[in-house]
Amino acid sequence: MAQIKKPSRVYDAIIVGSGAGGGMAAYVLTRAGAKVLMLEAGGWYDTAKQSKMFEWDYQAPHRGAVKPNTTFGYFDAAVGGWQIPGEPYTNAPGTDWTWFRSRMLGGRTNHWGRISLRFGPYDFKPYSRDGKGFDWPITYEDLAPYYDKTEELIGVYGSIENVENAPDGKFQPAPAPRCYELLVQKACEKLHITCIPSRHSILTRPLNGRPACHYCSQCGRSCATSSNFSSPTVLIPPAMETGNLDIICNAMVREVLTGPDGLATGVSYVDRTTRKEVQARGKVVVLAASNCETCRLLLNSRSTRHPDGLANSTGVVGRYLMDTVGADGTVGFFPVLMDLPPHNDDGTGGMHLYMPWWNYDKQFKNQMPFSRGYHIEFGGGRHMPGEGTFGGSHRYLGGGYGAELKKGCRKLFGAFVGFSSRGEMIPNDDSWCEIDKDVVDEWGIPVLKFHFKWTQDEILQARHARETFREIIETAGGEVVQTAGADENWGISRGGEIIHEVGTARMGSERSTSALNAYCQAWDCKNLFITDAAPFVSNADKNPTLTILALAWRTSEHIVDEVKKRNI
Ligand SMILES: Cc1cc2nc3c(=O)[nH]c(=O)nc-3n(C[C@H](O)[C@H](O)[C@H](O)COP(=O)(O)OP(=O)(O)OC[C@H]3O[C@@H](n4cnc5c(N)ncnc54)[C@H](O)[C@@H]3O)c2cc1C
Ligand code: SF4
Repeated sequence: MAQIKKPSRVYDAIIVGSGAGGGMAAYVLTRAGAKVLMLEAGGWYDTAKQSKMFEWDYQAPHRGAVKPNTTFGYFDAAVGGWQIPGEPYTNAPGTDWTWFRSRMLGGRTNHWGRISLRFGPYDFKPYSRDGKGFDWPITYEDLAPYYDKTEELIGVYGSIENVENAPDGKFQPAPAPRCYELLVQKACEKLHITCIPSRHSILTRPLNGRPACHYCSQCGRSCATSSNFSSPTVLIPPAMETGNLDIICNAMVREVLTGPDGLATGVSYVDRTTRKEVQARGKVVVLAASNCETCRLLLNSRSTRHPDGLANSTGVVGRYLMDTVGADGTVGFFPVLMDLPPHNDDGTGGMHLYMPWWNYDKQFKNQMPFSRGYHIEFGGGRHMPGEGTFGGSHRYLGGGYGAELKKGCRKLFGAFVGFSSRGEMIPNDDSWCEIDKDVVDEWGIPVLKFHFKWTQDEILQARHARETFREIIETAGGEVVQTAGADENWGISRGGEIIHEVGTARMGSERSTSALNAYCQAWDCKNLFITDAAPFVSNADKNPTLTILALAWRTSEHIVDEVKKRNI
């Protein structure tokens, strides 16, 4: 029998995972004086030393080609990707789910897009508005103070706009729009589509010793100057400074351990460097391994008191898995943007303008063919050319080589703009995950099996997005050169592809239909909390991470209060 290493130390709290949810829990708990152990399955990541931000594109081997371990190209900071060797997952027949995981300190916050949008008041009560899905047990007003605090801590740029259901925040000034963005904005004005400065967790002013962004546009490489938000640059350092945080990397947590009373006593993990099974003990356990990994941990934590897994006496764990609806890859060609004088469109990583959903009124009056909305993200311009930048130019130039080809490429450069939608998925009974009884990972831990389906609401939403992109492009004097039609289901993304997966252990006001209460505390195990996106009840069109952070702050404060009151 394998020997299990048992510790003598009992921490105030054990946090599993070091991304957005784990980093925020560590920040709040350690600053309140708790002694915390953070367990992270990936290795240590030192952003300042390991980021490839300052490398030139020509330094990339194999011209930066995408490989299984460099999904978004050689320079992307991710350690992990769509497939992790030794850590499989499976899909039920008919399901086409894909799952992006990062195994590194800070998880996916090292290389995410930094689009940081608050959920609005409607997003917390969607069922009350249109009778679909479920309401959250909290309101926008409950979370608003935590959005405020989070934005002030991490630094988010934006502008005050008073747009319906896209609440303003505590913003730093937004960067100026680029040339092509102004062109698109003008077209949106004609079409009565709201188009406003985007909201990103990137500094345009120095904050807490972090310098402002120097507009290199390389956020995916992770920011060596800490000018954008990541957990290892913004949350973990102040937590470490308290002296209250221990971090163990390469610790793959297998399950949450519980005592005879059903309460959590700690976790069991595999030390990936020694392959030994180790136990850690804590008075409180916080799961923040990202929503699906957290679900897997809950389902794998079976005991006499919790025979169907932890927090699962109602059978709701694994249910209502959601991703964002994406319609990517519509491209417009704008002759007016050809042959512009050389200029620099780099700016912050990502767009400087975006279009929040603008059709609430029509939808409320039942004049739309689908429920819920999407926002539009778009990009183009004369950014620093990277590998593949001029791919496809032969279609316009008719081929060529040498000086003529270069001249042609310069002429075309910046004349293409790509459009994507990011929309709400309504939770449905066919989208869920469970433990695959036949497959384990290389650590012997049973893996997840996914089931996933879009409904007509999502497919018609993708269609509307494609039609809107065409309208915008043509109104701006451009031509659609690439899009998807009915024969391709309007190019709707694969489940998981947008990397905004949420749900599987939802919070609720009734124990009979939810895994967690309104403070993300397990109904069945009062010293177990979740601070990633597993508690999400719906998945608004807004990218989820700002809400993960705000909710994690609120949950962590509740843990501190409950400990003070001796309730846990
Ligand atoms: C390319 C890309 C672009 C994105 N853009 C945006 C965007 O613009 N806006 C937005 O809101 N969101 C975006 N996202 C999504 C965003 O990254 C996630 O929502 C966010 O990181 C989730 O935070 P988390 O803490 O739940 O999980 P993660 O950040 O994934 O962190 C989870 C951590 O837990 C660790 N872990 C997992 N299992 C275990 C285990 N068993 N034991 C120990 N540790 C474990 C993992 O190794 C990981 O480090 C993007 C993601 C990607 C990849
Ligand atoms: S664009 Fe700004 S925030 Fe992003 S990597 Fe460059 S300097 Fe950092």
